[in-house]
Amino acid sequence: MSDFQKVESILIVGGGSAGWITANLLNARLNDGSGPPVKITLVEAPDIPVIGVGEATVPSIRRTMNIMGVSEKDLMRATDATFKSLIRFKDWNLGEEFDHPFDRRERPDTDAAILSWLQNQQAGNAFAQDFSILSNTAERMLAPKAVEWADYQSPFPYAYHLDAVKLAAMLTEFGAARGIQHRLAKIVEVKENERGDIATLTDEEGREYAADLYIDCTGFAARLASKTSPDEIDYSNNLLCDSAVTMNVSYEAWRPDHILPYTTAHALGHGWVWDINLQGRRGMGYVYSSSHIDRKDAEVEFRKFEGPHTEGIEAGHIRFKTYKRVNAWTGNCISIGLSDGFVEPLESTGLYMMQFAAQRLAEDLRPNRRFSNAMSAHFNQLMRTLYEEIIGYVTLHYVTSNRRDTGFWRDATDFDRVPRHLENLMEIWKTRPVTDTDLLIHHRLFSLESYEYLLFGMSYFQGEVPKGPASNFSLKPALEKCYARLPKHENWLAQSLR
Ligand SMILES: Cc1cc2nc3c(=O)[nH]c(=O)nc-3n(C[C@H](O)[C@H](O)[C@H](O)COP(=O)(O)OP(=O)(O)OC[C@H]3O[C@@H](n4cnc5c(N)ncnc54)[C@H](O)[C@@H]3O)c2cc1C
Repeated sequence: MSDFQKVESILIVGGGSAGWITANLLNARLNDGSGPPVKITLVEAPDIPVIGVGEATVPSIRRTMNIMGVSEKDLMRATDATFKSLIRFKDWNLGEEFDHPFDRRERPDTDAAILSWLQNQQAGNAFAQDFSILSNTAERMLAPKAVEWADYQSPFPYAYHLDAVKLAAMLTEFGAARGIQHRLAKIVEVKENERGDIATLTDEEGREYAADLYIDCTGFAARLASKTSPDEIDYSNNLLCDSAVTMNVSYEAWRPDHILPYTTAHALGHGWVWDINLQGRRGMGYVYSSSHIDRKDAEVEFRKFEGPHTEGIEAGHIRFKTYKRVNAWTGNCISIGLSDGFVEPLESTGLYMMQFAAQRLAEDLRPNRRFSNAMSAHFNQLMRTLYEEIIGYVTLHYVTSNRRDTGFWRDATDFDRVPRHLENLMEIWKTRPVTDTDLLIHHRLFSLESYEYLLFGMSYFQGEVPKGPASNFSLKPALEKCYARLPKHENWLAQSLR
């Protein structure tokens, strides 16, 4: 007997980035004339604030916004956005830095060049500078695209830094204008039917809401999913950080020489600091382990690192957990965003995971406006694999470090932190360079190049370099073309967003 259930209405609870990205993506994909319309309603509690961080993205954000029908310039104007070409990691090995850019190297042309590069291995960032165009253009403060190039188009993969609160506000207006029903109400009760599916939701005023499919985007509260799918995987043994102290530093308080087209992730004594340059301010946060430093001392360490201009700037404090719901989708309820899980923001994966989940869901629902147990089981497997991959990749930043200067670094670099699926690979990568087939088991948010930038950037590979053919590869000719074509980041912003 078929277990298909029809979807004529979807109720999303929560109006943060997860809620509004999911609502707008589903609306764009399901209400495009490709089948019967689906009624999409978003309910959010007026008195529960959104988490309000989440300012660095990865390149898939461009595709998501394009599918929704948001123009690039509208997005950038509305969210105070700037370009992001890479993440620059500082002091993950003390005194060194390396880049994780978004571009891939020319394969297989550069394979031989990598071997000869490894023969003369230098510490830190030299690898990205020799193989990544974006690492070089970002160093010169160039935008990843010319002013006249079309929305979201460039030969280089790029992303944005943006104001997360403004993003949710923009998507609220955008969605409401395109037929998404928006209700301000706090859900206080979840009623289930005899099958364990959600039957109705009730708000504080006693109003009831019913739909064919429910999406929990209520953040860490997981108001629906904590009832329908309570089991969680705890990743706190892999990643020790569980807190952040945040600050917005206006350009009046401190003006950097440039609005950087990259995110900086600077390792400190008990975690690391993100520095994100928007058009009008810097967004900063110190992600730390509360088992190693208390909240007050973390704020002191953060202010000392940033400088005396932070005096008088208010700091925010956030606690988080590193976890994943075992089943994101149970019955007629799916959790997306922080309600499904969270990995510290070192590789800016939060917004990516919710886009991935919402797009995947749209792919399942679009052909027939119905869902099945096979769809939910596959979705759950995909989301777990994605989390495993991200947890593994983020953990590598710590366990490859040679820092042992504080209790935090001694604990965070312990081999016990390595997730099981990477244990053997970590042994292997010490003795030979990472290869594409090493990474086949996972979903592949992170490409071979991502692992190369990290492992070679952290000088993790110490083995004998396999002999290869001679190579005379050089980025120089490509770079010369880019330098002639790409404008300064700040000039692009000034000219294009006027
Ligand atoms: C310190 C930190 C830094 C981060 N940095 C990045 C980054 O650089 N890049 C990135 O991609 N991601 C980042 N993230 C992740 C990102 O912030 C989140 O993934 C994103 O904001 C999604 O949040 P959300 O919408 O799931 O939850 P929230 O923003 O918490 O929104 C929850 C919503 O649910 C509503 N709600 C709650 N309970 C109820 C109820 N009972 N009834 C009705 N409504 C309810 C609230 O009103 C709110 O609208 C970061 C996260 C943290 C903690």
